Amino acid sequence: MGYKTIIEEDIDILVAGAGLGGTGAAFEARFWGQDKKIVIAEKANIDRSGAVAQGLYAINCYMGTRFGENNPEDHVRYARIDLMGMVREDLAFDMARHVDSTVHQFEDWGLPIMRNTKTGAYLREGRWQIMIHGESYKPIVAEAAKKSADKVFNRICVTHLLMDESKENRVAGAVGFNVRTGNYHVFKSKTVICGAGGASNIFKPRSVGEGAGRVWYAPWSSGSAYGLMIEAGAKMTQMENRIVLARFKDGYGPVGAYFLHLKTYTQNCLGEEYESNWWPQLTEMVGKEYLDIEASHLTHRPIPTCLRNHALINEVNAGRGPIHMVTMEAFQDPHLEEIGWHNFLGMTVGQAVLWAATDVDPKYENPELTTSEPYVMGSHATGCGAWCSGPEDVSPPEYFWGYNRMTTIEGLFGAGDAVGGTPHAFSSGSFTEGRLAAKAACKYIDDGKGEGIVVSDAQIQRRKEEIYKPLETYKVYSNEVVAGSVNPNFINPRQGLDRLQKLMDEYCGGFGVNYMTNEKLLQIGLKKMAIFGEDLDKIAASDIHELLRAWELKHRFLTSESVFQHTLFRKETRWPGYYYRGDAMKLDDENWHVLTVSRRDPKTGEYTMEKAPLYHLVGDMEDKDLAKLKAEGHH
Ligand code: AMP
Repeated sequence: MGYKTIIEEDIDILVAGAGLGGTGAAFEARFWGQDKKIVIAEKANIDRSGAVAQGLYAINCYMGTRFGENNPEDHVRYARIDLMGMVREDLAFDMARHVDSTVHQFEDWGLPIMRNTKTGAYLREGRWQIMIHGESYKPIVAEAAKKSADKVFNRICVTHLLMDESKENRVAGAVGFNVRTGNYHVFKSKTVICGAGGASNIFKPRSVGEGAGRVWYAPWSSGSAYGLMIEAGAKMTQMENRIVLARFKDGYGPVGAYFLHLKTYTQNCLGEEYESNWWPQLTEMVGKEYLDIEASHLTHRPIPTCLRNHALINEVNAGRGPIHMVTMEAFQDPHLEEIGWHNFLGMTVGQAVLWAATDVDPKYENPELTTSEPYVMGSHATGCGAWCSGPEDVSPPEYFWGYNRMTTIEGLFGAGDAVGGTPHAFSSGSFTEGRLAAKAACKYIDDGKGEGIVVSDAQIQRRKEEIYKPLETYKVYSNEVVAGSVNPNFINPRQGLDRLQKLMDEYCGGFGVNYMTNEKLLQIGLKKMAIFGEDLDKIAASDIHELLRAWELKHRFLTSESVFQHTLFRKETRWPGYYYRGDAMKLDDENWHVLTVSRRDPKTGEYTMEKAPLYHLVGDMEDKDLAKLKAEGHH
């Protein structure tokens, strides 16, 4: 195809994907590896890439330990209850104990964090969330990573990991192509820290036509964190744990600042509070341990995110939609009104534009809320990702194999959405995870674990042919088009994406079926996925831009297949409001109080599934406090 091959060799640490996780990795790698060669490969431009590219109005994970606010253990308990028990507590604790120092660094680097003028403490939105002026959050943080790395390659779509040919199951770098020049890039590296993103747009989105592309998570998050690692044979965990968001309708504007800071609340179309009507039915499904309303009131322990969704979904199904966010009261206060608008201008400007365009003034009209299509990611209220080693001082043997945040592939580490079982890390926690992964990667190299790696020219050439095949397919068959973009010999990336989204929606529990699936549907879906996989070999790209879309689709496909397999494996409804297994509608702690772990054999494409123990490493201290409060007769 005439594209140049550009080889970057002798890399110690390759950061593949530089959102918040990847930037944290590059920054910390320089601290522990003064002498090391650190290289970043990023699909967009590091200054505006990843989920934080558009800015944020809050940092949702900050303990405030130095202000006496929370301890890391408190955060583990919070994440545990929010995720219906399913958290890798070693990883969650490790992140929480280091996250405050990350936030303090961000402030040193110039990120404006709002402060309480009397106490000097950061201004809180909620128990874990602090407020920032964060439109330029990503460029500020990227600066630190750029200063730390030897080289930053922007506009590189990383398509595959390279594997060592002298030792099985050891990573050797990565390959990809430049989305502007088309050139083929090879990165030979002792370690790779995968900081690529989670997955938007694998389930059919609610936004269509003129709104297409408007999604909750970043539209460019193509599941590459999972696609890259699954293809290489890394074990994954909790991939069934897709997340559904309650959001302002059509603009996907976030609700956290509204609920927590503005103290807005929801009601049905009759103007009634409806959530509590659903708690008895939900308690039947999930048990009192996960939905203790009394405890929620006493300790301000939030009701799990998925269960709040369940109430919303069912109220609408009962014919009492739409659900409204009551903003009209809070917006009478000019200060809160300003915050309400700022909140969107700092991170979801589209919602403000949409309200302006459709004549919705939240001061005089309560806007509609709805539930989104599902997303697969690992840093908001969900924990999809790779099965990684935890830290040596906290992790039990089943969770520990030498290096913190290392996947089951030697030398391959993860951060942010890439690491499984670590929900509620958000931006600051993802950066912190990158730091932890980089520190461990430096030790791995210093221990001599990355020596003697062999990457043959044959491997490099094989990947090159594979990467550019869609361009070749187009060249060979484009004359055989029968109408518009219909061609008997190939599909284009848009057609493939539509097919994937329909499949995921109808068989894997998207919004179109009210998040419902069952064993039979999943099996049919997997059969269709297998045929779709064959057709993906014949995907065609008319130019480099379509080549990018083709590879994003392949990563989305691998992610989706994994979600199917995990959803089939877990025979219970663990997160009502995220998805339902119609043939197992109850939470089943007896059989499923476990983490799910999968591996796709890179040679055969076959999946093996296993259950991994779920250890509660942090005690229920809060529950003891709760017992005390109850005994004292508080309500
Ligand atoms: P969001 O704006 O929905 O992304 O949420 C921002 C933060 O607020 C996250 O930490 C959420 O878990 C939290 N959050 C959002 N809504 C609520 C709620 N109703 N109760 C408790 N926490 C919430």
